[in-house]
Amino acid sequence: SAKTSGRGRYQFFTETMQLTAQRRMQLAKDLRRALPEQQLFLEYQPIVSLADDELSKVEALIRWQHPELGLISPAEFIPVAEEIGLISEIGDWVFRTAVAQVEAWQELVNRPFQISINTSPVQYRDDAHRIRHWLSYLRERCLSSQSISLEITEGMLMENTADIEHCLLLIRDAGMEVALDDFGTGYSSLSYLKRMDIDFLKIDRSFVHNLQRDSDDLALCEAMIVMAHRLGIRVVAEGIETAEQKALLKAAQCDYGQGYYFSRPLSAEQIGACLRRRKIH
Ligand code: C2E
Ligand code: MG
Ligand code: MG
Ligand code: MG
Repeated sequence: SAKTSGRGRYQFFTETMQLTAQRRMQLAKDLRRALPEQQLFLEYQPIVSLADDELSKVEALIRWQHPELGLISPAEFIPVAEEIGLISEIGDWVFRTAVAQVEAWQELVNRPFQISINTSPVQYRDDAHRIRHWLSYLRERCLSSQSISLEITEGMLMENTADIEHCLLLIRDAGMEVALDDFGTGYSSLSYLKRMDIDFLKIDRSFVHNLQRDSDDLALCEAMIVMAHRLGIRVVAEGIETAEQKALLKAAQCDYGQGYYFSRPLSAEQIGACLRRRKIH
C-alpha cells in the first residue's frame, strides 16, 4: 500500500542520510592525513584549440587515492576540505605541483604551454597572503606567469568582492590569466564580466550536453560566445563528448574545447607524450 511504501522510502532515506553523514565524517578525518601521506595527485585534461585540434593547454584536476575507499572524486572531497579548513593547504600543494609540472613540460618541448588550476573562494580570504606566496614561488622559477591560468567560479565573485577583487588584481598584475569556470550555472551576473578582468570563460558542460537536441542550449552557447568575444574574452566549452557537439561549437566560433571526445584526464607522462606529438591522438 501507499502507506507501507511511504514508510519504506522514509527508512531508505534516513539510512542513506546516515551513510552520507558517516562517509563525510570519515573523509573529514582521513583527509588530514592525505597530504602528508601522499594520497593526493593531479591528473591533467587536454584543452584543445577548435580551429586546428592542437593541444593548447591542460586543466589540473585533483584526485584522492584513499587507502581503503579507493579513488575519491574532488566533487566529493573538495567541499569537505573547504568545510574543515584544509582547502588552502591543499590548494597551495596543487599550485606548486601544477607549476613544477608545467615547467617540466616546457623544458621537455622547449615552448610555452599553459596549465589551468582550479581554485576555491576560501583560498582568496586571509588578506591575499597566500596569493603573495604563490607570486614569490613563481618568481623563484624560470617560468613565465602567463603559463598559469587560475580558474575561479561565479559563486566566488558573489562572495566577499573587495578581497577577491584585490586578489584578482594581484594575479593579473603578476601576469597570470583568469578563467571563469562553470559559466552559466551560478547566479550569473553580467556585471561581474564588466568589473572583473577575465581572460577565459568556460561554458559549463550542462549547456553542451544536449546541444544537438536542444536549440535553446545552442542559442545560449552562441550568445555566450558572441558576448565573450565582444568583451575580448576567449571561450572554452566544457564536457564535449561527441563530434556533433564539437562541430556545433566550432561553427559558433568557440575557441577551445575540453571533454571526453578529445581526451579524459591523463597522467603527466601521457601529457608529455601528447606535447611531443603536438596532437592529442
Ligand atoms: P571543473 O573544474 O568544472 O572540472 C571539469 C570536470 O568535468 C572534471 O571533473 C572533469 O573530469 C569532468 N569532465 C571533463 N570532460 C568531461 C566530459 O566530457 N563529460 C563529463 N561528464 N565530465 C567531464 P572532476 O575531475 O571530477 O572535478 C570535479 C570538480 O572538482 C571540478 O570541476 C572542480 O570544480 C573541482 N576540482 C578539481 N580539482 C580541483 C582542485 O585542484 N582544486 C579545487 N578547488 N577544485 C578542484
Ligand atoms: Mg575547472
Ligand atoms: Mg568548477
Ligand atoms: Mg567547470
